[in-house]
Amino acid sequence: MPENRGVVYEGPGEVDVESIPFPKFEDPHGKKIEHGVILKVVTTNICGSDQHMVRGRTTAPKGIVLGHEITGEVMETGSDVLFIKKGDLVSVPFNIACGRCRACRERNTGVCLNVNDKQPGGAYGYVDMGGWVGGQAQYVMVPYADFNLLKFPNKAQAMEKITDLTMLSDILPTGFHGAKCAGVGVGSTVYIAGAGPVGLAAAASSYVLGAAVIIIGDKNPERLAHAKKIGYETINVAEHDNLAEQIAQIVGEPVVDAAIDAVGFEASGHGHPNEAAPAAVLNALMDVTFVAGGVGIPGLYVVEDPGAPNEESKHGVLKVRFGKGWSKSLHFHTGQAPVLQYNRQLMQAILHDRLPIAKIVNATVIGLDEAPTGYKDFDRGAAKKFVLDPNGMVNKKAA
Ligand code: NAD
Ligand code: ZN
Ligand code: ZN
Repeated sequence: MPENRGVVYEGPGEVDVESIPFPKFEDPHGKKIEHGVILKVVTTNICGSDQHMVRGRTTAPKGIVLGHEITGEVMETGSDVLFIKKGDLVSVPFNIACGRCRACRERNTGVCLNVNDKQPGGAYGYVDMGGWVGGQAQYVMVPYADFNLLKFPNKAQAMEKITDLTMLSDILPTGFHGAKCAGVGVGSTVYIAGAGPVGLAAAASSYVLGAAVIIIGDKNPERLAHAKKIGYETINVAEHDNLAEQIAQIVGEPVVDAAIDAVGFEASGHGHPNEAAPAAVLNALMDVTFVAGGVGIPGLYVVEDPGAPNEESKHGVLKVRFGKGWSKSLHFHTGQAPVLQYNRQLMQAILHDRLPIAKIVNATVIGLDEAPTGYKDFDRGAAKKFVLDPNGMVNKKAA
């Protein structure tokens, strides 16, 4: 049996690359399963969602193997796997879904009722997401493989675009879901809060959906410069506390048709970038969205936030001005993105050169041992999406 190594959360601000057990065909309770496969991991990305845990802003226990953005090659299949075969190159949706419960049957794979004892929805390597082992490792087990996995049609072609295709496990479908839920379509004006990888993926998605104006706001000059270079309008929210005025300068009116929160609960205040203000983005988006418009909220909000600035937000209670949204008849959509609803179409867009997502998010390939440095650079706001290459299978020149 090959050895296995993975990225382990060791407490706030600390991750390590360590020896971990080789995966088994077992669920988190140790029960034997036959519907899983074992993957040799080809790429696995570091995500802003991982950072919430590593910054100590969740109840994640020390010792968990991180990683929910996984692309891999099938090494071994359980006896109840019918369609996925050894050698297939596959994208793993970060949502773990059984394909059997009511939520899955209605395609809401982000809230599967069968993979997590604590709450609806499961994921690899994530706090409160069912205890499934993460995939920032050399090998990982994927359950319900026939239902979950997306097989790339041609391995050689897929390896050439692997830094694009690796974004199908999470951020590209997540950004796309944010844009769809906000109602982005032909001619829409869109404001996206957050110039991290999810914000950029929402911008790329808005573009393919036909948006006329795409604005990204952040407080990080390096990320804003990158977004501008790609071709999006940008707003530095650190410089002003009135987002509507900043939008008016670009759009000609102080509103947009659709707004997307790609920040989440670790938001900073507008005009006060050093102040934590968990509801800042939600309130700003309600202000600037045109009446009866949509607000897509892929940005993550937690139930418990031990690192929060005050007692209320420690329990996920935020000062959201909901009446504003009500009075404007806005609609909101939150939650894990159901990756399976979108990943096949987005794969086709990548394979047929319609969506150069690696370039847009500045995919940067690093080795597994460089993961701790990658986490640190990403935490300080580098304008990069780090892609780990744990088995040295990616041609670094392709990045
Ligand atoms: P990230 O941390 O790299 O990016 C967040 C950006 O928001 C940072 O650049 C930060 O400077 C900026 N920011 C902070 N306050 C702001 C404000 N008031 N206005 C505008 N920008 C502000 O994270 P990411 O990887 O891009 O992910 C973004 C969010 O999406 C995270 O909360 C992550 O957990 C979440 N996420 C959700 C899903 C889902 O399925 N719903 C999937 C993936 C990621
Ligand atoms: Zn992610
Ligand atoms: Zn299910």
